[in-house]
Amino acid sequence: MKADVAVIGAGYTGLSAAYHIKRLLAEREVIVLEAEGAGYGASGRNGGMALNQPSMDYMSMVRPETHRLTYDATAQCIREISELMKTNGCGSFIRPSGSLLVNKAEKGAEKSKEYAGKTSSMGVPIEYWDRERVADEIGTKVYAGGLHDPNAAELEPMKMVQALKRAAENAGVVIYENSPVLRVDEGKPIRLLVRGADGGLRTVTAGAVVLGTDAYSSKLGFFKSRLPVLHTEIAATKVLDKDALSDIGWASRIPFHDDHMYLYHLGTTDDNRIIIGAGNAEYFFNDSLTYKKDLNKRRKALHRELVRIYPELKGVELEHIWTGALTYSFNMAQSVGVTGKNKNIYYGIGYSGHGVTLSFLFGKVIADIHAGEDDKWKRMPFYQNDLPPYTPPEPLRYIAVKSYMGYMRILDMMKGD
Ligand SMILES: Cc1cc2nc3c(=O)[nH]c(=O)nc-3n(C[C@H](O)[C@H](O)[C@H](O)COP(=O)(O)OP(=O)(O)OC[C@H]3O[C@@H](n4cnc5c(N)ncnc54)[C@H](O)[C@@H]3O)c2cc1C
Repeated sequence: MKADVAVIGAGYTGLSAAYHIKRLLAEREVIVLEAEGAGYGASGRNGGMALNQPSMDYMSMVRPETHRLTYDATAQCIREISELMKTNGCGSFIRPSGSLLVNKAEKGAEKSKEYAGKTSSMGVPIEYWDRERVADEIGTKVYAGGLHDPNAAELEPMKMVQALKRAAENAGVVIYENSPVLRVDEGKPIRLLVRGADGGLRTVTAGAVVLGTDAYSSKLGFFKSRLPVLHTEIAATKVLDKDALSDIGWASRIPFHDDHMYLYHLGTTDDNRIIIGAGNAEYFFNDSLTYKKDLNKRRKALHRELVRIYPELKGVELEHIWTGALTYSFNMAQSVGVTGKNKNIYYGIGYSGHGVTLSFLFGKVIADIHAGEDDKWKRMPFYQNDLPPYTPPEPLRYIAVKSYMGYMRILDMMKGD
């Protein structure tokens, strides 16, 4: 089989890259090879917060004009995702609710206030809310303050996958599911060994490859020593009564996450459940993609946090719990670009739990680099960004990653609850 561009992975990065390449270069033959089903990875199982720009800590380090450009680019992406979901039958699954980054302690609230002062001078409409204002919107007084971003959104993750998949197919992309790529041999063209859905082995030759494989990339030999694979968990309540959210004071349904490294994030679903995720991350030896912890313990921990925030929900059980894998970047740097001996392997990686909007954006950037129209992205912080420094092979990597994770816990303790 031959293609001009073979995209590996049908998550947001891969589908967005395939869609945007085909839109820009209609004559190119673009295929997507997905090991399982579209959305099997983090894209089909995340918390659904479509956030603007990388994290606040990261953005605090970039220049004001870069900050503004980055915010505008992601806000534009959220509008485009919304439009794509609407035109592909999934419009009711994205809510232009904005989002809140809430501060667990006064120290964090002070930092947020200062950050909002800076963003407003740049024309970025992120606003500081104090404890009372936060409580008015989300019904809990446990937070000292927060940053409200009016341009963020909440969406049903798998519906975004479906919309992107439809859009890509309508544009002429051919998607092969249950077709894992087993090997990538660099060259001009690149040769891929693929197990087809019928079990047979095939070779695909392609002029260019897009790695839309995030946490799975190291298994194909890419970015192995750069980005550890972390696993996080999310749980969902049963379907709540129609008035349950107003009863707890969360009629706004603004999704929120706190300001710790091991942050909790909460949102709501279209069928009126609350979802709560994280507060934890796990690393398993050799970047294993298999989750190995006791999920029932995690369910209890997530329930404890839910009840801490909303004591009224004490009797509401968490009906479902699931996990997902992501790449975590030690220097908080996401990166999109092109690599390989022949500069024909495109990638978007290192989202660090902040990838719904950015992966869509990185698909656009990949398309523009491929078409030679990437000048406008060159000033962005993520363009060909350096990934974190080398981490040693196992077993030293395990020790290094676990030590870093322990250090993050200490930082969280210092931030206070
Ligand atoms: C639990 C969880 C909650 C999250 N919550 C949020 C959130 O609320 N907001 C936010 O902004 N971000 C969130 N994220 C991060 C966000 O979901 C990811 O950054 C984003 O989905 C990454 O998309 P992707 O397409 O790059 O990777 P993925 O969605 O992981 O897609 C990779 C795809 O590649 C396929 N694949 C892998 N290997 C091969 C192979 N050899 N051959 C063929 N196909 C292959 C996989 O099957 C998979 O479908 C969360 C992540 C997790 C895990």
